Amino acid sequence: MNSSFLHNRGHLYSFIICLIGLGLFVIYGGGSFLHFSSSAWGWITAMAGAAVILTVFTFQLPPQGNGLSLDSSVYLACIFIFGLSFTLMVLLLSSLVLLLLEWGSTVWWKHLNNFAVYCIMVASASIVFTALGGVQGPLLSSRLEAYISAMAVYFILNTLLIGFYYYVVYHKNLYNTLKGMLTDTILAYACTLVLSLVLTILLYHNHMVGLGLFLCLSILISYSFKRLFSMYRDIEERSNRDPRTGLFNHSYFELALEEEMSSSKISGAALSLAMIDIDDFKKYNDQFGHLKGDGLIVFLAELLKRETENTNIIVSRYGGEEFTLLMPGYDALAAKNFMESLRKTLNHSRFEGSEIFPQGCLAFSAGIAAYQPDVHFKSELVDHADQALYYAKRQGKNLVHTYGSQSPLERDVDFSEDVRDIEQQLNLFMYKDLETFKHSKRVFRYAVDISELLNLDTLSKRQFTLGALIHDIGKLEIPWGILNKKDKLSLEEWEMVKWHVIWGKEMALTNEKFRDLAPYIELHHERYDGKGYPYGFKGEEIPRLCRMLTIIDSFDAMTTERPYQPTKSFKEAIVELRACAGSQFDPELTEFFIRYIEKREVCGSETAI
Ligand code: GH3
Ligand code: MG
Ligand code: MG
Repeated sequence: MNSSFLHNRGHLYSFIICLIGLGLFVIYGGGSFLHFSSSAWGWITAMAGAAVILTVFTFQLPPQGNGLSLDSSVYLACIFIFGLSFTLMVLLLSSLVLLLLEWGSTVWWKHLNNFAVYCIMVASASIVFTALGGVQGPLLSSRLEAYISAMAVYFILNTLLIGFYYYVVYHKNLYNTLKGMLTDTILAYACTLVLSLVLTILLYHNHMVGLGLFLCLSILISYSFKRLFSMYRDIEERSNRDPRTGLFNHSYFELALEEEMSSSKISGAALSLAMIDIDDFKKYNDQFGHLKGDGLIVFLAELLKRETENTNIIVSRYGGEEFTLLMPGYDALAAKNFMESLRKTLNHSRFEGSEIFPQGCLAFSAGIAAYQPDVHFKSELVDHADQALYYAKRQGKNLVHTYGSQSPLERDVDFSEDVRDIEQQLNLFMYKDLETFKHSKRVFRYAVDISELLNLDTLSKRQFTLGALIHDIGKLEIPWGILNKKDKLSLEEWEMVKWHVIWGKEMALTNEKFRDLAPYIELHHERYDGKGYPYGFKGEEIPRLCRMLTIIDSFDAMTTERPYQPTKSFKEAIVELRACAGSQFDPELTEFFIRYIEKREVCGSETAI
């Protein structure tokens, strides 16, 4: 439903209310200008003044902060003592004064609409009052039912007219809106109604002094309500915040998640949840102490606040060094893009001691779960985000992963036990060379996709994907200093690096289960033109799937994102692949791989595996 339609409905509703309200005004108050004596006009002015003063002292009611003023007690007292036409004059005068006072800040038609609503309430209350035997003048205890009924009608109409407005304009559930309004305002309304009876007595017996006393009393009450509301706000604010970071806390997050999920369920709007966990935070704590660690948590919290400043994302501290971002209006892809840019911003942020992290910079891993209508409980969404986060951690950290974005093949590879075995070996890279660890996992995922596209039989699929996962295992033998060297390698060091293909093959051959993977390890640095190593095999001499692995391996190396180092975009890497097709790479397989990458990019699934 578009917003102009909503507004048209709202305008139509306001127009009808204005017609009814003004009609009642004309019928019951239109001709009475001429009949009032000058002393009556004095009273009208005094009562209108009282109503205006009370409107100025409008106060808010918890929990929603709806505005409420005690001016209704003035109108009700006027009905009881002076009758309907007098009250309508008071209403007209006070509305005109408010129109002038709020000139420029509130549009005229809102004043008109407000006036019409009051006319309807005042006229109806007065009619009921007279119909039930109410008599103008002093408060008669024998006619209590007339007073109570008039007040009840006034209150019910007020609730209904406003409730309907929300229903018509915002399409809110009428029952819930009315229920919410009743529970919020009933106490304050009861106060207004009792005050109207007090004013009736005071006015009748003490005239202007009575009115003055009443005003003092009402202003004090308004002021107390105001204080109460600000205290409520203050306490609510504090109970929702994490004291260290100033972000929302866990319990607020739970409430917000519930609310956002049910509103997405009704409206069909997208909603995503991202969960963040700082990478290797224990290491930082161990090295610098918990106080510095706390400082890092605050640093990240400030960054999250800054980066989400102009969005509707709700950031909470979920606990310890874990945070959640509740993202209304974000589908999985939008959430992923946002989180990726956040991750990069953190990678490039400087913080004391950040060089001790294995990634060489501050980093977090994040899991994203997009809300689907079949997710019924908030714990499910949290669990999905948590699983995705865990997956990102397992892939080497400093990653954002979306729940459910693994290829189906990867999820149920029937040789998952072998994958786990190799992963255990690769875990050694977590300490020795994190990049090789992450690279191996990415190359594995590319290989899983490609093996599907190539329609490989089960055995080839197993060999190709496991070969991709294990291809760099020989690097475990290269000394740490060479593997992590930032400067250019010497010729000798370079020769040593090249040996990893042989060492890796030897390692595979020691294990019966992985003997058949040896060619992938041994030959993934061979080139199509015969200028590769270790043997200088050429063209078809290199097995086809090994040629494919070389392409995947190189593509990932080109596109790997490393902090503080330039990376090729996918487009640039494709250009480079094509430039080397026929020399370094098998041209036919290169085109096949490029088609796969381009298709993935168009589908917008992920920017990097
Ligand atoms: P991983 O990359 O797997 O997340 O490794 P990690 O070292 O970050 O480990 P994990 O997330 O499991 O543990 C987080 C540690 O953070 C545990 C605890 O010592 C520390 N921690 C949790 N809350 C606070 C805190 O408020 N202040 C400080 N200084 N440390 C905290
Ligand atoms: Mg943690
Ligand atoms: Mg952590």
